[in-house]
Amino acid sequence: MGYGISTFSPDKNTPAGQIADSEIVSSYDDLDDVAEFAKSVDVITFEFENVPAKTIEAASQFVKVYPGGEVLHTTQNRLREKTFLLENGFPVTPFARIKTIEDLYRAAENIGMPSVLKTAGFGYDGKGQSKIKTRSDIEIAFEKIGEDECILEAFVDFEKEVSMVCARDEIGNFVHYGLIENDHVNHILDISFAPANCPSGIEKDADEICNGIAEKFGYVGVLCVEFFLKQNGELIVNEIAPRPHNSGHLTFQTSCITSQFEQQLRSVCGLPLGATDFLKPVAMANLLGDIWIDGEPDFSKVLGKKGVGLHLYGKKEARPGRKMGHLTAIGETTEETRKIVEEARALLE
Ligand code: AMP
Repeated sequence: MGYGISTFSPDKNTPAGQIADSEIVSSYDDLDDVAEFAKSVDVITFEFENVPAKTIEAASQFVKVYPGGEVLHTTQNRLREKTFLLENGFPVTPFARIKTIEDLYRAAENIGMPSVLKTAGFGYDGKGQSKIKTRSDIEIAFEKIGEDECILEAFVDFEKEVSMVCARDEIGNFVHYGLIENDHVNHILDISFAPANCPSGIEKDADEICNGIAEKFGYVGVLCVEFFLKQNGELIVNEIAPRPHNSGHLTFQTSCITSQFEQQLRSVCGLPLGATDFLKPVAMANLLGDIWIDGEPDFSKVLGKKGVGLHLYGKKEARPGRKMGHLTAIGETTEETRKIVEEARALLE
């Protein structure tokens, strides 16, 4: 779109850095380098939410940072995020703050079991989580997870998991990509497909919740809200991702008019938001490091399949559970696209 892109990260040769015009490698804590970087660009955004809030604050003194540091501060910590949602009337599962084992015994009584103990900060993809089914699991969970601050959440008996990728611009225009349906394996996103197989009323409810969250934050940029959908049609917010999201990766490779990354650029650069229509049903399957165990998979096996696209992130080291890339497939129905993408991935395993 004619912009020059610079990245700032502690690592060299990062996925974004590889395709940027310049890659600055420095610590997020080096506020002089952060300031110098901020002075060299017109606008800053991020696609990783664990950038320290003080880094964003330092950059904000020189340049616009979207979404703002306050959003990052809230969404970096599960307790702060759930408290924000609860206080603003958005639906969340009952939760409690845990510091000691006594807190945990008390909260497990009040909230009930099964429940899930999670670290309050820096958790994703099920890392730092332990399910508590009975009283006898409490001590084991606390030993496994217990650190400075944790959260105990009532386990949600959901029918399915869905997400909504949205964007909001500086003047408050809001768009979303409809509901995306997500299947997880071992707490890690495995397959996403759109449009989700849900009654239209549910999409309307999700739209209202997402628009409400974006407005409360005064949000500018792309965000994704992950939901649990219960059998009775009730939506519960699980998490807010203040950035383009893994489930939104199915918006690129020709399935959708505007990809979530183009939308991110449009929203933070003050351009009109792009159309979010899907041209065809689409599914996406994550490729985890597990299939690199005997070296790089032979991608020529899938690239000849009609409608299948490959996207690799350029991560140098493959580890089990690490997201290395994904496949997308378009087709006539979501069932068909899902089948195509699953069969394609199986060829790489
Ligand atoms: P998270 O990292 O919190 O998004 O959790 C990863 C996955 O674990 C979710 O997508 C769910 O599949 C599952 N999970 C996390 N919290 C809960 C909960 N309170 N109830 C039911 N499943 C959960």
